[in-house]
Amino acid sequence: MSTQPATAAATYRDLLARIAPQGDSRPINDPATGEEVGRAPVHTTTDLDAAVSAARAAQPAWGALSHAERSGYLNQAADAVEANAEALAELLSREQGKPLNGPNARFEVGACSAWLRATAAFELEPDVVVDDGASHAAIHYRPLGVVGAIGPWNWPMMISIWQIAPSLRMGNTVVLKPSEHTPLSVLALGAVLNDVLPAGLLHVVSGGRDVGEALSAHPGIDKIMFTGSTATGKAIIRSSADTVKRLTLELGGNDAGIVLDDVDPQAIAEDLFWGAFINTGQTCAALKRLYVPDALYDQVCDALMEMAAKMPMGNGLDEANVLGPLQNQAQYDIVARLVEAAKSSGARVLTGGNPDASAPGYFYPTTLVADIDNDNPLVAQEQFGPALPIIRYTDLEDAIAMANGLDVGLGASVWSADPDRAREVAARIEAGTVWINKHGAVDPRIPFGGAKQSGYGLEFGVAGLKALGTPQVIAG
Ligand code: NAD
Repeated sequence: MSTQPATAAATYRDLLARIAPQGDSRPINDPATGEEVGRAPVHTTTDLDAAVSAARAAQPAWGALSHAERSGYLNQAADAVEANAEALAELLSREQGKPLNGPNARFEVGACSAWLRATAAFELEPDVVVDDGASHAAIHYRPLGVVGAIGPWNWPMMISIWQIAPSLRMGNTVVLKPSEHTPLSVLALGAVLNDVLPAGLLHVVSGGRDVGEALSAHPGIDKIMFTGSTATGKAIIRSSADTVKRLTLELGGNDAGIVLDDVDPQAIAEDLFWGAFINTGQTCAALKRLYVPDALYDQVCDALMEMAAKMPMGNGLDEANVLGPLQNQAQYDIVARLVEAAKSSGARVLTGGNPDASAPGYFYPTTLVADIDNDNPLVAQEQFGPALPIIRYTDLEDAIAMANGLDVGLGASVWSADPDRAREVAARIEAGTVWINKHGAVDPRIPFGGAKQSGYGLEFGVAGLKALGTPQVIAG
């Protein structure tokens, strides 16, 4: 095992220097200011082919190591992330827009090392399915080969680690294509990891949709781990069909939260707020529509307004801010369109909804919308930004039916002073995860995946490791 100490970058500029493009490049701009952050390489499908070949060549030796040896490398990778944490967080903040503070850039970099360490620590034993004296059968998990990872722009480093860590732990090598909106963060993370990983295991190919499509169809790729929109997930299913690739698809969501009539609105307000507004609402499993009973409706709205007033939004490098801009113009336009649809339907805007179009950056103010119908576009479509619709209900059965009324089901939450009652409601909600009195709280030990059109396959925990192996039954 390598004993190289991790090299520490002093600033984000040192990281940019390490990933400076050799050939064609394009500018990447800060969504808070419009200023250039750095230049990203424009990789092509030829670069992709070279990366896949190198990853295939490196895989047998890596796959032949023991779990303990590979876990040792993952722990070294966590050390390397920690040694570079502040420079990585600054680059992430400048490129993605998320503030350094709050559940944002520093939190995301911290999650990268935490996930690497947790993934290194899981015990993975063969599943013994029959052992009756006469026969013995067990399922073993062998390396798949080369994993293709395709990621989004909202949590670019953390989601890359969710794909890389279990893939490597299981003896696979990885070719990763980051979002075209946030390539620098992922290239820099890759450079930091590659300081300590054996050569050839991890390749970051910074291309556009064409490279994503080619990766999904590539005969040298054995599995795709994809996180992104449902529309792209469907395209990947189609382009991966001819090679019968394994797929883990973490797709879009429109998570419901149901408040029951026994809660103290003040006590849950902060967790409700961050459930919805973490990463300025640009989170797959964020609370995107909140169902509140008549009896508590005004109190919950007031408590959320108080929270919103306390949470400063602005340039992410300002230590005071905990909310930032939308990452890109297209996402800004979606949020603006949906809030306008709500306004024109007569819904009541409690706060926000009035962006300053003359100011620089893609800032959309924290927006709470009350007295909105369940079929309004702001409720029925994924806003993926800082605008929360609060829907009134009288009968809990109606709230459950509304929560289940969409074709997506990533996460959901139930808020109650009575955990047993909350669990009974949770069991009736069509979502991959239902949290009680919190929302979106992912944990490396707890499997996570979508129901309905939010995708399939599990990430995290031992179940997540097994999804990066090919099951082999040995019976005899
Ligand atoms: P996106 O689907 O537009 O892009 C994601 C990635 O797919 C990018 O790297 C893109 O280049 C690539 N891509 C685009 N077309 C492709 C194709 N035809 N074949 C292969 N790759 C292709 O998503 P986005 O806008 O980056 O992310 C936002 C969406 O992702 C939201 O819907 C959100 O809910 C979802 N999301 C889900 C999770 C989750 O865990 N379920 C996490 C984060 C984001």
